[in-house]
Amino acid sequence: MPAATGLYNSDLSLIKLSIIVPCFNEADGLNAFFTRLELTLDNLQGYRYEIICIDDGSRDNTLEILCLHAARNHHIEILELSRNFGKEAALTAGIDAARGEAIIPLDADLQHPPELIHDMIKEWENGSDVVLARRRSRKTDRLTKRLITQFFYQLHNQISECEIPENVGDFRLMDRRVVDAVKCLPERKRFMKGLFAWVGFRQSIVEFDIEPRKSGKSSFSTRRLWALGLDGIASFSTVPLTVSTYAGLIVALLSLVYGSWIIIKTLAFGADVPGYASLLTAVLFLGGIQILGIGILGGYIGRIYNESKQRPVYIIRQRYSRGVENS
Ligand code: UDP
Ligand code: MG
Repeated sequence: MPAATGLYNSDLSLIKLSIIVPCFNEADGLNAFFTRLELTLDNLQGYRYEIICIDDGSRDNTLEILCLHAARNHHIEILELSRNFGKEAALTAGIDAARGEAIIPLDADLQHPPELIHDMIKEWENGSDVVLARRRSRKTDRLTKRLITQFFYQLHNQISECEIPENVGDFRLMDRRVVDAVKCLPERKRFMKGLFAWVGFRQSIVEFDIEPRKSGKSSFSTRRLWALGLDGIASFSTVPLTVSTYAGLIVALLSLVYGSWIIIKTLAFGADVPGYASLLTAVLFLGGIQILGIGILGGYIGRIYNESKQRPVYIIRQRYSRGVENS
């Protein structure tokens, strides 16, 4: 259980909280974001904090604005990635750099209210290792996003070894030991929500109302969301492989029954004019099942191929503290 120090000390071991902020094209909203976040953190008596912002290959002037804020507030550190690696990789970079005893990933678009950090810390002080922020509703999400998320959460939780709690995203407080456990997981394709759930630990929940995005637009298109859902399932379940085996088995059994029926019918009533329709249906159906099975196999083999390359999850172009480049 954490003990508040209350003193400012340049010794980094006294840092209590690491806030991790992945940023991709967030320039317009950053001023409002820092105002609200800093107000919340300054009200936290007895805690020191660091804010690690990851510029995930933004194409607007996110990096310049981050540097301006870092020059003003020396708690802000910036990691500039060499290109856009995606939110999961940006979060991984932040988690690797964090030195706090508690780590909180936070979106830069103010959809996650920073004020909730107070409630999270209370739960942490009461002994929880993970404090999940659960949104009360998904009303700010567009319809396609809601449908895809619901579909994947349900499917994932039915067929995976560990359950991802519904309506819970990356916004959560994690104790240092949870973060160290997540860092030990070696996979390159990092579906963070799944990894966080997989490590377990003592969890508690605080609820919040998700706010609409303050500026800019969501970078998760329907296609990207679908790909993330597939990654989540393939990273934590091999059930689709088993399903294709069973589907093959069922189709084979059915064709055996159908074949026996045709033999009996021919013996009993003589030869019939063979129908194209039933033949074609059987051929197409079997072909479909085979292609589906090969597709599922291909999906997993592709992931094994990607993992076996052992490429780094992200590449840092430059680190900045106090708004200037670190040597
Ligand atoms: N983000 C990122 N890299 C990306 C996409 C998003 O770092 O490739 C960041 C983004 O700046 C924001 C957070 O991840 O801070 C959540 O992104 P977004 O708001 O687009 O997702 P949504 O809230 O719609 O799920
Ligand atoms: Mg958002």
